[in-house]
Amino acid sequence: MTRTTHLFIPGPTNMPDVVRRAIDLPMEDMRAPDFPDFVRPLLEDLKAVFKTTTGEVFVFPSSGTGAWEAAVTNTLSVGDKVLMSRFGQFSHLWVDMCERLGLDVDVIDVPWGEGVPVADYARKLEADRTHQIKAVFVCHNETATGVCSDVAAVRRALDAVDHPALLFVDGVSSIASVEFRMDEWGVDLAVTGSQKGLMLPAGLGILAVSPKAFEKSVSGTMNRCYFDLGMMRTANAQGYFPYTPATTLLRGLRCSLDLLSSEGLGNVFARHNRIAQGVRQGIDAWGLRLCAAEPKWHSDTVSAICVPDGFDANDVIQRAYHRYGLSLGAGLSKVAGRVFRIGHLGQVSEIMALSALAGAELAMFDVGLPVEPGSGVAAAQRYFGASVREELAIAV
Ligand SMILES: *Cc1c(COP(=O)(O)O)cnc(C)c1O
Repeated sequence: MTRTTHLFIPGPTNMPDVVRRAIDLPMEDMRAPDFPDFVRPLLEDLKAVFKTTTGEVFVFPSSGTGAWEAAVTNTLSVGDKVLMSRFGQFSHLWVDMCERLGLDVDVIDVPWGEGVPVADYARKLEADRTHQIKAVFVCHNETATGVCSDVAAVRRALDAVDHPALLFVDGVSSIASVEFRMDEWGVDLAVTGSQKGLMLPAGLGILAVSPKAFEKSVSGTMNRCYFDLGMMRTANAQGYFPYTPATTLLRGLRCSLDLLSSEGLGNVFARHNRIAQGVRQGIDAWGLRLCAAEPKWHSDTVSAICVPDGFDANDVIQRAYHRYGLSLGAGLSKVAGRVFRIGHLGQVSEIMALSALAGAELAMFDVGLPVEPGSGVAAAQRYFGASVREELAIAV
């Protein structure tokens, strides 16, 4: 018998039953004459998730990392100078990719737990009078530390000095879960994947591209093949793909987009915020700290929780998994052993969040952390209860 597992990692996330049923399909002909009737509206509707009307979206059979690579190889040239910052495992990995692809990376190292250093970016952009910096990178939601950064502020820093650099955003663990406004924030390349806010299996790397970035893809000289945007655009214009698309995942994407739009994106974001606030109340009641150093950086999709000195977060994770079938996110790289993470994105509800808190406090109690059983759950319940009463008061 396979055991019930309770999945609270920040991706892959839990799949709604309707999405699971939507991908349980026989294989179909991806060159069928009516396939474009399915593909064209799908790509069009996907734009809403990025809040773009002027940009174009591209869907690759890959994970989010492939969409990172597509963004970089299509729009930049070897030796181009780019401005990046590193404050967690995902921002680190994108820096590493850019270095390996031959870019001249100016990387600002920031303590893990903080976000994009907007003031440093502004200073460097202002000093760059000859516009050597071709692109500025933002990891919107650093999943390793539970830190959400201010993308709009980076756009303001660019505009303040009329800097023409492209704005790249990793939105893998934010897009479709927290506010993201591609057009309004002047984002040129936004990246996401299917297995987080979109509540699908891993396997789609999704990219939204501004007209300015697409123009650069014509002049950029970096080698690209599988991830060639031009080739993809030509095929997509006919309603097809240049190679075999992941048809079942695309059918699932149709279903998840319909779910998101029936709930309403604003309500989806409000739900993520409410649940994250409840989880944070619980963590506070445990007497534990978040890895995120300040409230302005609190992520509504993942909480990275520091264990007290003298304890190993991996003991909590192991206990939760082996004894209770609860998957918590591990601390990655620099914060390994120091944090465990609760993912609260995608298909997530108050009751699910309470069960994650209950399981985590049980596991912490078992391995001897000084945490009062029930304390986190009670604090979150009080928060959820109060927020429901508030909603009712507004309704009357
Ligand atoms: C999950 C994640 C990625 C990597 O995506 P894969 O789908 O695993 O390739 C990149 N950036 C962030 C912020 C993520 O959370």
